[in-house]
Amino acid sequence: MVHYVYDFADGHRDLAGLLGGKGANLAEMTRLGLPVPPGFTVTTEACRAFLSTGAEPDGLAGEISVHLAALEDAAGRRLGQCDDPLLLSVRSGACFSMPGMMETILDVGLNDDSVAALAKVSGSERFAWDSYRRLVQMFGATVMGVDGALFEGALADLRRARGAADDLGLDAADLAGLVATYKDVIRQETGEDFPQSPREQLRRCVLAVFASWNGERARIYRRREHIPDNLGTAVTVQTMVFGNLGPDSGSGVAFTRDPATGRPGPYGDYLPNAQGEDVVAGIRDTVPLSALAELHPDAYDRLREHMRVLESHYRDLCDIEFTVERGRLWMLQTRVGKRTAEAAFVIAAELVDEGVITAEEALGRVGGEGLARLMFPRFDTSALGAPLAHGLPASPGAATGAAVFDSAEAVRRAAAGEQVVLVREETTPDDLPGMIAAQAVLTGRGGRTSHAAVVARGMGTVCVCGAEEIAVNTGARCFTVGHTVVEEGTVISVDGSEGTVHLGAVPLVDSPVLRYFEAGGRGTGLVDAVARAMEQADSVRALEVRANADTPEDAARARRFGAQGVGLCRTEHMFLGERRALVEAMILARDKAEQGEALDALLPLQREDFAGILAAMDGLPVTIRLLDPPLHEFLPDRTDLAVRVAAAEARGEVPDGHAVDLLGAVNRMHEENPMLGLRGVRLGLVVPGLVAMQVRAIAEAVVERVRAGGRPRAEIMVPLVGAVEELRIERAEVERVLAEVSEESGVPVHCPVGTMIELPRAALTAGRIAGEAEFFSFGTNDLTQTTWGFSRDDVEAAFFSAYLDKGIFTASPFETLDHDGVGRLIRIAVEEGRAARPGLKIGVCGEHGGDPASVRFFHTAGLDYVSCSPFRVPVARLEAGRAALDGEGCDDR
Ligand code: PEP
Ligand code: MG
Repeated sequence: MVHYVYDFADGHRDLAGLLGGKGANLAEMTRLGLPVPPGFTVTTEACRAFLSTGAEPDGLAGEISVHLAALEDAAGRRLGQCDDPLLLSVRSGACFSMPGMMETILDVGLNDDSVAALAKVSGSERFAWDSYRRLVQMFGATVMGVDGALFEGALADLRRARGAADDLGLDAADLAGLVATYKDVIRQETGEDFPQSPREQLRRCVLAVFASWNGERARIYRRREHIPDNLGTAVTVQTMVFGNLGPDSGSGVAFTRDPATGRPGPYGDYLPNAQGEDVVAGIRDTVPLSALAELHPDAYDRLREHMRVLESHYRDLCDIEFTVERGRLWMLQTRVGKRTAEAAFVIAAELVDEGVITAEEALGRVGGEGLARLMFPRFDTSALGAPLAHGLPASPGAATGAAVFDSAEAVRRAAAGEQVVLVREETTPDDLPGMIAAQAVLTGRGGRTSHAAVVARGMGTVCVCGAEEIAVNTGARCFTVGHTVVEEGTVISVDGSEGTVHLGAVPLVDSPVLRYFEAGGRGTGLVDAVARAMEQADSVRALEVRANADTPEDAARARRFGAQGVGLCRTEHMFLGERRALVEAMILARDKAEQGEALDALLPLQREDFAGILAAMDGLPVTIRLLDPPLHEFLPDRTDLAVRVAAAEARGEVPDGHAVDLLGAVNRMHEENPMLGLRGVRLGLVVPGLVAMQVRAIAEAVVERVRAGGRPRAEIMVPLVGAVEELRIERAEVERVLAEVSEESGVPVHCPVGTMIELPRAALTAGRIAGEAEFFSFGTNDLTQTTWGFSRDDVEAAFFSAYLDKGIFTASPFETLDHDGVGRLIRIAVEEGRAARPGLKIGVCGEHGGDPASVRFFHTAGLDYVSCSPFRVPVARLEAGRAALDGEGCDDR
């Protein structure tokens, strides 16, 4: 029999998939004996059943009744009881943390009768009416679908009418009036009354939280974080405790270490006389956690103790939500906390030094995406003038862009290619699209744990929050700092590491982590922590990491970054620029002699290119790919040529002979589908002399390097092979030329000859192809294109966002390898290739070679190496090390 509801006492942290992170961790804290208000969790399974049928799953109501009765018995009060009501919070919580993206309803159980009882037992009418107005507002917006702005508007009007700076300036009578106004709004908008039955309130809240899984901001967030759409959310139902009972109460958020820098020691915000979301919504300014020590020393000491217990239990940074009710501390939530990339590296290294985790575990706590972010440039401090404003450094990095004042404008300008900074008084979860589109987020209010900060940190977006000197006027689309007015569109620079805002575009400099990869040496805590993670990764990884490099400079940089060779040297750029004329001459040649002359002219240029790369990678393998793109890509544009010729004819002139010849060639070579046309090995087989010229250039470069005392290790790679016969013919030609150059020079030149596997047919006949190939390299760009039938040049812009919206995939298959389809072809090719040729060397050189999730796949598929762009080499090294360790779980994100 399926259980849809678990008591806190019956769950534990490993049940995050079923109980969501919140439910599982509340259960864990309950087991640890921490002061958690009692409650129960409705599972993600119930949510999935609801989402697939649209109806409440059978048996759920009965189970909730049983668990509620137990809760009521333990409390000695009934839900909504007329003389002393038990009140509940109903909160969302998925397996992966999605902060603020789904719904929460507090104070469930209040109605026109129990509000009076609450006033009596609490001794505070104001508190009772404040709680009731919060319930009606949250219920109206979340459950009944009323536009939340109508409630916010009514609240703001009342504050204005009373001259109140914030909600604390409203008294019990004001709030009672507000409840009546809210109820009218609900009636007008929905034709329904706010339900007075506490059980009906609870039932509808649970279903509304289920439904919020598919709310717009939740879907956008999942897409961005690659969280699958089919997981569903759990719903936690918990006895309310109150932080809004007066000045001796409050709510807070705490981290066991600084989530921005990783520095040890408690960190957080506290808001006296406040409930639930008030702390993160930034509606009033919070005080630092340390102030709690003065306000409630006893609660503070207990909190510090619980933080120590949690950190040593979870063996990681924990974040905590808590409430102080009349001086008494209650723990409302904990989880392994989100952190910046910098903090992830620093904390991992510190926990190793503290003996809490092993170096291997530390490697599991950092990631390639974060490392890539740390390699981004920072502002040049020598060029920084006085800041325009200061705020809290909430999410590090440096970003420049035009100031915009709402989410829609940020999205609109970003789509047009502009870099923007989203400036808001405070952000709400509805600002998510704008936060994704922006380079940085700047807010006037809110602490480091405000919504803006938490979400930006999670996304790696630069953020400065709580910049109180700025006055944001969204209506007038500007912000002011003293007498300076910054209009929409003005470029500003935001430093999320320092918490400063500057007018204009500040120049950028390399990050210390990038400098470390370039030049070595150790330095700050962060660089040291990165270095240690890299050493650990290198010591455990099975995958080699090579680089895709086409120039000596790129090859040299890749080597400094730790590349163990070049996995792909594309030769096409060697046919561009001034050399285009030689390619044209080769194509237009009227006879063999003319063609030979053009190829002879290209030969020394190519030889020089290869010698440079072989020198930069001396002693390491360099895989050189023979020419791949169709030759007409090196000729002028067909339409331009046709217009030139036609215009001359229209003027009655004789068109330029060269242009006419070129146009003839371009027309002959024109292809509707060049990606599927005369390219790759096909080109080598039908254009005489081309392969011979390239192989001769490689072989002569090898000879030159050997004579210079080097240890060149060139490998020759044939692209786009679909049948073993193609490779057999091409290989014979390659070997003929290698033998020729060996003979002429007296230097024996041995280059392994291999092939790219980038067509499904190649993967499916890999056993036969391995008979002719000394190595395989998966060209996953083309293999993805040809497996899906997706044009790699067109589809991402054309319809991928619709596919992502519909959940057909959670990431573009051109970015993260499609394990089921393309991955299956890779596994087949690896297995059959190695069966035919034991020890066959196999790598990958498509873009996926530098993508963290894909590197993990290549490791499990048994590849020997990945090859990626030089800047991704450290990322691939780190991820290859992580892949060699254990798999991923829910808490890993
Ligand atoms: C590939 O197809 O994955 C590949 C590396 O080749 P290119 O991107 O040059 O087609
Ligand atoms: Mg390719």
